[in-house]
Amino acid sequence: MMTRSWCSAVAVLVVLWSGLARSAPLVLIEDGVARAVVVTAASPTPLASYAAAELVEHLRLATGVSLPVVAEDAAPAAGVRLYLGPVAAAAAAGIDAAALPPEGTRLLTTATALFIVGDDGDGAPMHADTRGGTLWGVYEVLERVLEVRWLWPGELGTVVPSRRTVAVPSYDETLSPRLMQRQVRPGLIVRPSPTRGFSPAGLAAYRQAQEVFLRRHRIGRSTPFRYGHAFESWWGLYGEEHPEWFQLVAGRRGPTSPGRRFSMCVSDPALHRHIIDLWRAGRAENPAGARNVNGCENDIAGLCECERCQAWDGPQPAEIPRRFGPRVVSDRYARFWQALHDLAVQEDPQAIVMGYAYVNYAPPPLTALRLHPNILVGTVPDLFFPRSAEEQQWVKDQWMGWRQTGCTLFLRPNYTLHGYVLPYIYVHQFADEFQFEAANGMRATDFDSLTGQWATQGPTNYVLMRLHTRPEQPLDEILAEYYSGFGPAAAAVRRYFDTWEAHTTALLGAPGAVGASGIGRWSTLAKDAHRLFPPSSFAAAAGLLAEARRAAGADGVAAQRVAFLELGLEHARLCAQVAAVVAGDDAEASPFAAGRALRDLAAFREQHEGSFFSNLAFASTIEGRSWAMPAVWDGTPVHGLSPPVAPLGEPEPAFSLRGSGTILADLAAGEAFRARLRAQRVGANDSPVQWVVVGPGDRVLERGEVAVGEAIDLVVPAPSAGTCALFVQSNLNRALVTARNDHAALLGPKVAWVSETAPVFFMVPEGLKAFTLTLSATWPGENVRLRVVDPEGNEAATAEVASRGPQSLSVEVPPGRAGKAWSVAFEKPTQGVLEDYTIEIGPELPPFLAHRADRLVQSGPRAGPP
Ligand SMILES: [Zn+2]
Repeated sequence: MMTRSWCSAVAVLVVLWSGLARSAPLVLIEDGVARAVVVTAASPTPLASYAAAELVEHLRLATGVSLPVVAEDAAPAAGVRLYLGPVAAAAAAGIDAAALPPEGTRLLTTATALFIVGDDGDGAPMHADTRGGTLWGVYEVLERVLEVRWLWPGELGTVVPSRRTVAVPSYDETLSPRLMQRQVRPGLIVRPSPTRGFSPAGLAAYRQAQEVFLRRHRIGRSTPFRYGHAFESWWGLYGEEHPEWFQLVAGRRGPTSPGRRFSMCVSDPALHRHIIDLWRAGRAENPAGARNVNGCENDIAGLCECERCQAWDGPQPAEIPRRFGPRVVSDRYARFWQALHDLAVQEDPQAIVMGYAYVNYAPPPLTALRLHPNILVGTVPDLFFPRSAEEQQWVKDQWMGWRQTGCTLFLRPNYTLHGYVLPYIYVHQFADEFQFEAANGMRATDFDSLTGQWATQGPTNYVLMRLHTRPEQPLDEILAEYYSGFGPAAAAVRRYFDTWEAHTTALLGAPGAVGASGIGRWSTLAKDAHRLFPPSSFAAAAGLLAEARRAAGADGVAAQRVAFLELGLEHARLCAQVAAVVAGDDAEASPFAAGRALRDLAAFREQHEGSFFSNLAFASTIEGRSWAMPAVWDGTPVHGLSPPVAPLGEPEPAFSLRGSGTILADLAAGEAFRARLRAQRVGANDSPVQWVVVGPGDRVLERGEVAVGEAIDLVVPAPSAGTCALFVQSNLNRALVTARNDHAALLGPKVAWVSETAPVFFMVPEGLKAFTLTLSATWPGENVRLRVVDPEGNEAATAEVASRGPQSLSVEVPPGRAGKAWSVAFEKPTQGVLEDYTIEIGPELPPFLAHRADRLVQSGPRAGPP
């Protein structure tokens, strides 16, 4: 919070400044009393209504006073008015709303009124394509007059200094956004993962708060551009008829193998004509739609080896950085965009062509090409942060090289995806790049995406947002705004983040931190969290935050904001700790520890998700790509159901597992754990199957690997009677496991199988009238047929799953057939292939699956002596 004296100093300056202008300040609220009304058009657009609500709400937060909002035809005759949006009175005041630049705003004061009139779209206020001139004007006034700052989504991150009086200085100016597109994608990718993301309600609340926050930072655009990897469906559409439009690689047109990504033969004039024909047809269909031609290559290097494409490349440089090799094709793509533009202007002289400077056409062109300014080139810097000085310079040289062609530049980075949930701070290098580009012709941005780690990456995120409206503002001033939100703790919080920035910067040269700055590493960063951010780094940081908490003292809001940072730090520390357990670096650690650590992490997230400290959807998506599904046994012992068991017979049955599985065995004193383990290849994957045997008390007894194509017979002596567990991780291959102890079963309730597996038996408890089995085939075309058999050997139910979605099967239990073991067999489907599928047995059933009925186990300690 800013101190009162500092606020009044600002107020004095405002008065002096406005005194030099035409008229005295307009008083909206005086000593806690409303002196103005907010006036909208008689039937305002949704955007103008939203702008009014935002203005009223922030004035209320500052003063406790709510100004009334009235329609123009019902406005009182006298008093101060705050006109918002395209009102009739604006024309009388000489404002020509139609003449405003796209998303522009006219701010004008008269003796009795403030006009905030913008170029607005008709759409939903939250939609990025709804032009928001009036809303941007409201935010500008809130920032200037009330010193409002939005540090992160939600109430706690909204800084509104308190005051009794609000007066607006004299305005007579037209504003328009510095960038015609300001895009920071929300980062709400939601993928299945072993950890918990948001709850559905938590996700909805976060999404809404972040949308509001992004609009407050004027995220949006003047024109609804449409671009992105343009030709991904084209091989399927045109491959047969026009193979010559596609890359020529090793003498063949099209993808090098079915389903692989491909690039285009971008020098083909017939391809250019077809792209323009489609664009023209699209415009005819939707005249209000996008004006631009999409010339962005697919998500792959430009690979065509045809003579014409290679001739377009120009002479190759003597040395090509490895990351672009073996061939740089920037000139080829520049000529491609120019060729598209030459055709498009025949239809529309204002036509815009968009392209990405990406992969092996990221470096600037090698020849002195000239591109039309209506060609928009988005540079996609491949270098993530932190960078060496040379790397930082390379990114600037890339920008300037493209700028020399005469094209219009936009920034289209992926580097803000880096950092996972960690206090990964690179704000100085980032601002240095952004401000250089802003000063050198940047006209738009498109950041993919926000990590949303507000409590650990706050300064970087705030500067990213703030530079979109104030690209020229010195970085230290922007950071001072951020830190001032922590009131008396500002200096301590600055030390805290400076320390993390130094830590992050040092990762560049640290051994073992390979690729800290590398593209493609962001999505698996959770694998290395504990190595990059060791426990000692968290201990030191926690000390700095404790100092901040003391400095906050009695300032309640400052203390809450420091507590928010502490929450983020604790979360990051927990995640790094889980990463260490999941990585299994410690040979003594039980694989079940990871499952327990993940449960603790999920509980922490559930408790705190409403604070918006972290985008948990993003966090768990990274974890899904970084961490293997852990073992989930909670340590509860099991015991056998029937003392005598029949031999397994020949051939021995086996569980055919894909992914992980846990076998629990009830061992008598002196008995060894016994199993057979075979590893079979699935696809082109050489990973071995890994296994760990854990004895009573969670003690690791033995661990090892089985190479693909090999088999082993495990005999692991146990130190005492009790439950032993075998944890198997197939690493995407197939693990065939036979549990050889008398009383042993696979732990459910959910198991992922691959190919044929032996039938499995499960117990249907006494008194149960029906139970549920849920089956899903993992991929389209991979199906499975299941057959349920009752204790008498009768077929009780069958089902075939022929799609990805889970399908539940309810099975009735006839009288006399409960309290006994049933079985389920998996068979080849009538259509498709039997490959990946999962089964989940209902919660009404004990979660154990055995090779034979008499080998089943149940939870809890053994009843009698062994
Ligand atoms: Zn070609």
